[in-house]
Amino acid sequence: MVASGAELGWLTSPVEHGWEIGQRAVNGSLLYNYYICNVEEREQDNWLRTTFIQRHPTASRVFVELRFVVRDCNSFNADSLICKETFNLYASEADADIGTAFRKGLFRKVATIAPDEISSLGEMKMNIETKVVENLSRKGFYLAFQDIGACVAIYSVRVYYKTCPATVKSLAVFPETVAGGENQALREVAGSCVSNAVSEDQPRIYCTTDGEWVVPVSQCQCRPGFEAMNDTCQECQSGFFKSSVSSEACKPCPKNTQPSGPGATSCTCKDGFYRAPEDPEIAACSGLPSAPQDLVASTAQMSIGRLQLSWRPPADTGGRSDITYAVVCERCEGRACQPCGEKVRLDPSNTDLKETRVTVSELEPHLNYTFTVEARSGVSQFSNKRATISSNLTVLLPDPPKVTAMHLVDSSSTSLSLQWSVSHRSKPVATRYELMYRKKEIANGKVTTYTVLVLEKNSVQISDLSPSTVYLFKVQALSPEGNPGSYSLEQEFSTLPQGEQSQNKSVGLLIELFFFYRRRNSHTRQGPEDTYFSSPDQLKPLKTYVDPHTYEDPNTAVLKFASEIHPSHVTKQKVIGAGEFGEVYRGILKAPGRKETAVAIKTLKPGYTEKQRQDFLGEASIMGQFSHQNIIRLEGVVTKFKHAMIVTEYMENGALDKYLKDHDGEMPSFQLVGMLRGIAAGMKYLSDMSYVHRDLAARNILVNSNLECKVSDFGLSRVLEDEPEGTYTTSGGKIPIRWTAPEAIAYRKFTSASDVWSFGIVMWEVMAFGERPYWDMSNHEVMKAINEAFRLPAPMDCPSAVYQLMLQCWLQDRSKRPRFGDIVSILDKLLKSPDSLKAIADFDPRVSIRLPSTSGSDGSPFRSVAEWLESIKMSQYSENFSIAGIVSMEQVLQMKSEDIRNIGVRLPGHLKRIAYSILGLKDQTSTLI
Ligand code: AMP
Repeated sequence: MVASGAELGWLTSPVEHGWEIGQRAVNGSLLYNYYICNVEEREQDNWLRTTFIQRHPTASRVFVELRFVVRDCNSFNADSLICKETFNLYASEADADIGTAFRKGLFRKVATIAPDEISSLGEMKMNIETKVVENLSRKGFYLAFQDIGACVAIYSVRVYYKTCPATVKSLAVFPETVAGGENQALREVAGSCVSNAVSEDQPRIYCTTDGEWVVPVSQCQCRPGFEAMNDTCQECQSGFFKSSVSSEACKPCPKNTQPSGPGATSCTCKDGFYRAPEDPEIAACSGLPSAPQDLVASTAQMSIGRLQLSWRPPADTGGRSDITYAVVCERCEGRACQPCGEKVRLDPSNTDLKETRVTVSELEPHLNYTFTVEARSGVSQFSNKRATISSNLTVLLPDPPKVTAMHLVDSSSTSLSLQWSVSHRSKPVATRYELMYRKKEIANGKVTTYTVLVLEKNSVQISDLSPSTVYLFKVQALSPEGNPGSYSLEQEFSTLPQGEQSQNKSVGLLIELFFFYRRRNSHTRQGPEDTYFSSPDQLKPLKTYVDPHTYEDPNTAVLKFASEIHPSHVTKQKVIGAGEFGEVYRGILKAPGRKETAVAIKTLKPGYTEKQRQDFLGEASIMGQFSHQNIIRLEGVVTKFKHAMIVTEYMENGALDKYLKDHDGEMPSFQLVGMLRGIAAGMKYLSDMSYVHRDLAARNILVNSNLECKVSDFGLSRVLEDEPEGTYTTSGGKIPIRWTAPEAIAYRKFTSASDVWSFGIVMWEVMAFGERPYWDMSNHEVMKAINEAFRLPAPMDCPSAVYQLMLQCWLQDRSKRPRFGDIVSILDKLLKSPDSLKAIADFDPRVSIRLPSTSGSDGSPFRSVAEWLESIKMSQYSENFSIAGIVSMEQVLQMKSEDIRNIGVRLPGHLKRIAYSILGLKDQTSTLI
């Protein structure tokens, strides 16, 4: 700033006759000024030039504030054309002081200075005027005042530039900055973070021409251990921490930590408390979980060699939610324990269990197992302490005793009496034995015939043998559950020659014959001409089904094969179905010394005839001979009381056809194939026993809560007479046409191969979720179609491999159909590699069979979409079709399944019904019938 107040050494031009220094007393003090008052002389051009003013290197704009007084021209008797009341401000830049070398031509005009108020004689009206000199760039400048004939006194000249003052904004420091000029109205200024603050980018701010800061851009944040306070970063107080660079305040130390000192970036855990590696620093520290509680092992509803371990979560989780469990299995003898090894399986796994239970399988009987369950959490790794609970248990599984030596007690020419002993090591839990014998010598070309006897004692007398013949025997013990032990060694005994008497006549053994092989009756396998069964690999010992009709008194048969239950042990709870002889109930069986079990109870309605009662109980005589996972199990019968009953295991999900209809589209192919595998395994067992079912259909398969399928319905006469699907054939029998193989319909050739045909139909029913085979075609139409070599088309979404198997089951030549053994292994293979189920069978309209209502009732085409929908009982979708603009049958015929889905048909069954119907409509010309 340059201010008046003393001799300034300003240059005047002209030197003598121009500006002069004057002084004037104002309020008692003497003020200096430069003045001029040549108002009466023409052509005035008087210059007053300042000394050289150094420019601040960044100040391109300077302000010039003038205080001056201008005298009113009217105060003089001057010529108004000559007297002026303004003067001019000039400026000239230079890089160095040029001293007294003054040249007007170097100056540029900045402004004309006019007073706001002019002063009369004696008056002193001070004007203050500020002018801006822009775009300065050289080292310095001169100002000059040009008078052109005014009476003016300049009292002060203040020259200044503006700055934005040093400041702290948003934790960033910005230096004092000279404001820019008109060519740089906003000057960008870089700053730096205050101490203990950091920022990824340099903070910035703008300085306006008026010296004001605007738009600070700062991301400065206090470092860990510091928080922002009054434009500074202050250390966190004791007991507080801040772990990250952030604008947050310090937080109190979390739970289970030690108190922190000032400026803490974290709070360390108290002894015995930890943070998991994935826990953030701000998390509370957590303790180890306590041991799991209430470990129990249950074998209820578990099959042999399996148990379920379950426990409750630890009482103290240590404040964590990531609790998992690890189960260790050890086999202990006395104090010595060793790991159970690979053989024992833990499902779903032995570690990282989220659930509080595990299924253990492949356990061996009579061994002492110790299970230890440990609770773990994310902090368990930091401590050697283990939170465990153990449970010792000896798995007491009924172990069938081992049969040791077998010896001859007595013999004659036609009989042999044998006895055997049982190993002492085993507990005497066996109640039954299975004895198998055959002739040692086999006549050429003849099939070996094994005879199998199930016995309740460890002795037997066998009659009706051939004289002088060597027989081979082996015996096996069965546990009460029917689990077989291993066979004894095969031993030979021979009958005496004809006429020779027994050495020992005293033996009068009680023989319990449970079932006896006989080669006769319609239900057993056919003769050797039935190539289907007579291949050499079938010549293995088989239990063979006995037709109860071979017994003269059917009541004896039922008592041979079924155990009698006292009616007081049976409680009926609810009617669940209608059997052909009476109601079927769900109920409870509680036999003394046995656990309560859920059962199905079939009753015989009052007013029955003796024949009906025998037929009713006949089913039990058949069922009682079977023991297989996929065959419905007979619990027993009530025959000695007025109300006869058949008690079987209870199948929670009822008949398979209904179950599938109720779950249409809900099960993946894999699961459906798994169900079929079960049915095939049951059928293999039946066919191995030479039992021909004749009425295999989804309605005769029952489903339990585990979705295991079991073959049921072993009625004797009903296959022919009472089957609801049964139709009289020309030969007089009643046959369920759509499930029956052509040879069985044509000439009653019922074999396991015809059961395989029926199994193919069951496969179709399953894959089509209980759809009726051949829809609403009449039985006559079905038979005609089959004879013309048409077969059911692949159900929607049916894996190709599964449909191929169906087609094999429906080969006209029964000897070419797969056997149930083959079917089980094919299905097993498919289940082992689920990818094999990915290829979906094509729906080939050429083999399409007439579908439900593909035309109006009179056979004419449908007149409207509504009429068509009504005919397939899908009227509820009329609106969906019309909203989608599908108003003609021509449009309907263009629809693909995704179009049907898109208009809002979501239920798989409905989707299928509509899609099938459209396919049928399209293909009416090439339909079968
Ligand atoms: P059935 O006389 O064997 O055809 O039985 C008639 C109906 O009773 C079947 O369709 C099933 O719904 C039901 N039913 C029969 N046995 C059982 C069972 N063991 N468990 C559950 N439901 C059964």
